[in-house]
Amino acid sequence: MGAIQALRGTRDILPDEVKYWQQIESVARTILSRAAYQEIRTPIFEQTELFERGIGEATDVVGKEMYTFKDRGDRSTTLRPEGTAGTVRSFIEHSLHAQGGVQRLWYTGPMFRYERPQAGRQRQFHQIGVEVLGSADPRADAEVIAIATDILKTLGLSDLQLQLNSVGNADDRQQYRDALVAYFTPYKEELDQDSQDRLTRNPLRILDSKDRRTQAIAQNAPSILEYLGSDSKRHFDQVQQSLTDLGIAYQLNPCLVRGLDYYTHTAFEIQSAHLGAQATVCGGGRYDGLVSQLGGPNTPAVGWAIGLERLVLLLQQLSAAPQSTLDFYLVSRGDRAEAQALVLAQKLRQTGFAVELDLSGSAFGKQLKRADRSGALACLILGDAEAENQTIQIKWLVSGEQQAIAQMELISSYQQLQQRITEFRTQEPAKAAQ
Ligand code: ATP
Ligand code: MG
Repeated sequence: MGAIQALRGTRDILPDEVKYWQQIESVARTILSRAAYQEIRTPIFEQTELFERGIGEATDVVGKEMYTFKDRGDRSTTLRPEGTAGTVRSFIEHSLHAQGGVQRLWYTGPMFRYERPQAGRQRQFHQIGVEVLGSADPRADAEVIAIATDILKTLGLSDLQLQLNSVGNADDRQQYRDALVAYFTPYKEELDQDSQDRLTRNPLRILDSKDRRTQAIAQNAPSILEYLGSDSKRHFDQVQQSLTDLGIAYQLNPCLVRGLDYYTHTAFEIQSAHLGAQATVCGGGRYDGLVSQLGGPNTPAVGWAIGLERLVLLLQQLSAAPQSTLDFYLVSRGDRAEAQALVLAQKLRQTGFAVELDLSGSAFGKQLKRADRSGALACLILGDAEAENQTIQIKWLVSGEQQAIAQMELISSYQQLQQRITEFRTQEPAKAAQ
């Protein structure tokens, strides 16, 4: 029997890659908390009906991609395919609207869709997302876009494109739907199979087809922008004005739709040219109808989700892994020294240093080589002689300089040593750039 492997469409994120994930999370947390967004954590599975009602049965996600199963109590249960439905359910269930004002929420975690796995597309993937509930102000649309842009820029991604559209309100869309059906019907036989099915159920989604031939036909379809009523037009103009005020460049893309009934007004995607077919890193829009559709009070809302796997792919292309944060690598040899090293490592950690203790049991030479590779700034060396008189050799790996000091001095000189460490750390990237 062979060893068991991870399921198709799932993958392990090993420590070297986790560094990128942590970098993303830390940048996102900082930027979101500065803008008064609060984290919410909702369950990974929910009643199937939440997604059927929330996302819509005519969508690919609900129609084809959900991980749905009966639990032992015979309840239809679904692993969440996205984060908005659960967040809105929670918002309603806990009457967060009763707190008044605007709720700014964010979440991160795994999502599940039964799709064909390929680069940037998995069955378990991860998103970070925001939802702003309770504001119909076009500045809310602009704010969420600005925050997504800020997160991506701070991570060092520059070569990104914001595509923008408006899908209007339900009335605008009804008229537009009719126009689309009239336009596509004569071409029906030439459309891909999915698009033929969508012609009656969800014609806006045809614009989103990945099929070449369908795309070519869709090129000349009527544009939704010609069907926007005056309220929708005003909202869309104001979103664009706000983006311009913020210095955020965008491209209008009238084919960008989110074909669900509850989506209203703004729809947007942030794309990268470096991701091949799976180009969209961030997708979002306004959904003024969802909260009421799920049984809550009428609440305008806008949000987005960033796909973290795709973001990690971009960061890996772009930059070296984030630096190690290890201060000391502690090597020891001999019974007495080894016993002291264990206790000393613990004391240093409690003082505030980041310390790795070599537990390999190998010879000094090998331990020292590992110290070089560890990314630590200094190697601490404890042999029989040092153990005897409670000293330690400290070797700065960046400069090579080495001296013996009392073990206690490491702790009493914490401030000076930290300063030294910070100096080395700030010099290092400069050296690497030379
Ligand atoms: P796509 O057109 O790529 O299927 P989508 O419209 O289904 O995207 P959304 O539901 O808007 O995607 O999700 C937002 C983001 O989450 C996407 O832009 C993408 O970065 C990421 N994402 C969606 N599905 C997957 C997946 N199966 N694997 C990895 N990332 C995904
Ligand atoms: Mg999809």
